[in-house]
Amino acid sequence: MRSLNHYSFLVESRGELLWALIQVDIYRYPIRPKGEYLKYVVSFRLHVLEEETSTREKKTRWVKKDGRSLADRVLFLGTPNSFAIDASRLRDQEGGCAYFVIYNFNTLKPEKVEVWRCNLVSNKAEFVEQLPRRWDNERCTWHVPQPPSIAPIQRLVVGISLGSGADRRFIDYMRRASFCSREAYRMLSPPHPPDASACVAWSLRLPSKLKIFAYLDGIDRLSTRANLFHKSCAPSETCAVCDAVETSRHLFLECTTASHVWARLGVLVPSEQFSIWELPVPLGVATATWHFGVAAIMWSIWKTRNDLVFNGITTSPVFAIRRACDDIALWRWRIPHLGRADVDSLRSYMLMRCD
Ligand SMILES: [Zn+2]
Repeated sequence: MRSLNHYSFLVESRGELLWALIQVDIYRYPIRPKGEYLKYVVSFRLHVLEEETSTREKKTRWVKKDGRSLADRVLFLGTPNSFAIDASRLRDQEGGCAYFVIYNFNTLKPEKVEVWRCNLVSNKAEFVEQLPRRWDNERCTWHVPQPPSIAPIQRLVVGISLGSGADRRFIDYMRRASFCSREAYRMLSPPHPPDASACVAWSLRLPSKLKIFAYLDGIDRLSTRANLFHKSCAPSETCAVCDAVETSRHLFLECTTASHVWARLGVLVPSEQFSIWELPVPLGVATATWHFGVAAIMWSIWKTRNDLVFNGITTSPVFAIRRACDDIALWRWRIPHLGRADVDSLRSYMLMRCD
C-alpha cells in the first residue's frame, strides 16, 4: 500500500525564483500477525521561473532546474520562509544540498517532525534528525549563526599565545600547591553558604535521621500532603486534622497539636515567612540548645501526625512535648560534657510546661 505527501516551497536565490517540490512516498508492508513496516522514499524536484521568449506576450513558466547548478549553495526550505545561502558561509558544509522538514504522522512516537537533507546533485534524500516534541505544533524557523556573535570569542582567542611547556592549572597559580579535588571544590564553592538554615541542621549533634529530617524540612521536601499531592502521590492536600492545606508550616506550627505545643512552651510563632531555626528562644534557654530542642519537638510533631494518619491514634500536645523530652534525654549524650547542663535545663523547662 502506498500513500503520498507533498511539500512545496518557493525560494529566491541570486535573482532566480526557485520552486522546490518534495514528494514523500510511504510504502506500507504488513508484518504478520499485526505489525507493519513503513518505508519512506523522499524525492526532490527543483524548478526555476523563466520568461518565455518565443511569444510576444510576456509569459512565464516553470522549467526544471539541474541541481548541479546549485552546487555552491545550501537551501533551507520551511514555513513561513525559505532561503538560500552560499555554502562558504557555513563551516564544514558542502554545497548543493537542501534541508527541509517533514511531518511523519505515521509514527507512534510523540515526536513527529523530522529534518531531512537532499543532495541536489545526486538527488538523494536522507534523514538528518528528529526534532523535539514541543516542535510538533509549531512551524519551524531556520536559524543561521551570524559571524558577529562569535566575534568577542575570536578577540579573546587572538590574545592567547600557546607555549611549548606543559599546561598549568589556574588553581596551581593561586596556591602554589598541587591540584586536589578538595581545593577545587573549595574554590568553586561560594565564600558564604547560601542557605544558613541548612548549616544549622547539619551542625546539630543529633542522629543522622534527625539531621536529614530537619534539612528536608528546611528546603520543604518533607512528604507533607501538599508536597505529595503536588507529585500526584496523594489524593488530597488537606490536613488529616483540619481543613487546611498540609504544608510544612501548617503541620509544624499552625495545626491544632503544633500550635498548642508552641503555646505551652511560651513560643510566639511569627506570622511572616521564616526559617524554623528563627523561632523565638524562650527566656533562659541558650540559642544553640534551643535549636536542639526545636528539632526534637518537630520530630515529635511529625510522629504525632504519622500516628494519626497511619494508625488512627490521636496524641495530645502534652504527650508530644514529653516524647520530645524523652528523645532529648537520649540524645544529650551526644553533646559535649560542658553543654549537657544547658540541654538538661531546656528539658526541665519543657517538662515544667507540661503541668
Ligand atoms: Zn491541620
